Amino acid sequence: MNVTVLGKSPSWQDAGGACSGYLVQEDGLNLLLDCGNGVFGKLRSRLDYVDVHAVVLSHLHADHFLDLVPFSYALTYAPRQQPVPVDRWPGTQHPARPSLHAPPGARDTFRRVVGAWGGEDLIENAFDLREYHADAALEVGPLRIAFAEVDHFVKTFAVSITSTVTCGHFVFSADTGPSEKLVAFATGADLLMVEATLPRPEREGPRGHLTPAEAGEHAGLAGAKALVLTHISDELDETWAREEAGKAFGGPVQVAQEGAVYEV
Ligand SMILES: [Zn+2]
Ligand SMILES: [Zn+2]
Repeated sequence: MNVTVLGKSPSWQDAGGACSGYLVQEDGLNLLLDCGNGVFGKLRSRLDYVDVHAVVLSHLHADHFLDLVPFSYALTYAPRQQPVPVDRWPGTQHPARPSLHAPPGARDTFRRVVGAWGGEDLIENAFDLREYHADAALEVGPLRIAFAEVDHFVKTFAVSITSTVTCGHFVFSADTGPSEKLVAFATGADLLMVEATLPRPEREGPRGHLTPAEAGEHAGLAGAKALVLTHISDELDETWAREEAGKAFGGPVQVAQEGAVYEV
């Protein structure tokens, strides 16, 4: 299984960057994990969007789903998706309609967002929308997908993806504060991608994100084989983040870079 970083920014994009988005590929199956702002353009530079079979969302914050809007417009209005020939496109009776696995309440959220200016059913018409629940176990082609609810400001799920071809095990923390559940869920992962949003813990209010050191602690406790920090701004010092996480993890740490491909 290959995991390609399409976007790794937190809720404001890096210069030239994109928010949360990862392309997971195995045996001809293309799955997009999160679709934050900027991700659709990054996806298009790597893969034809009609070849995306499934999209999985970790939670319903803008930086994790907002590019479903342009993606939905493409699936709805692109000449190639129409039943009759348009321009150089021959027409199709089978337009792409990827499955979209989203947290509970997604349909209402999408309707509110898109309904602000147009037809509120844009996203649910473009995709085959299915709301998952915490103990759902999905099979998408050769991938087994599971969820664990983590501690964030809205209902948020860490996502585990296992290849039935290689048995490779990838876990994505989503956005989370310190979470014992994440440690248990990620135990033994071949690749653990953990958010490391904060230069220091939140000064007040509930925790909803991690520092690089905390990300490293989680990965160490989980016994992950490799750690990649993500959801980290280009305004933070990467070397500092890697060192902080490395001390706690006890192994090598990478900071996600757009375009990086991890073989799991
Ligand atoms: Zn986020
Ligand atoms: Zn979030």
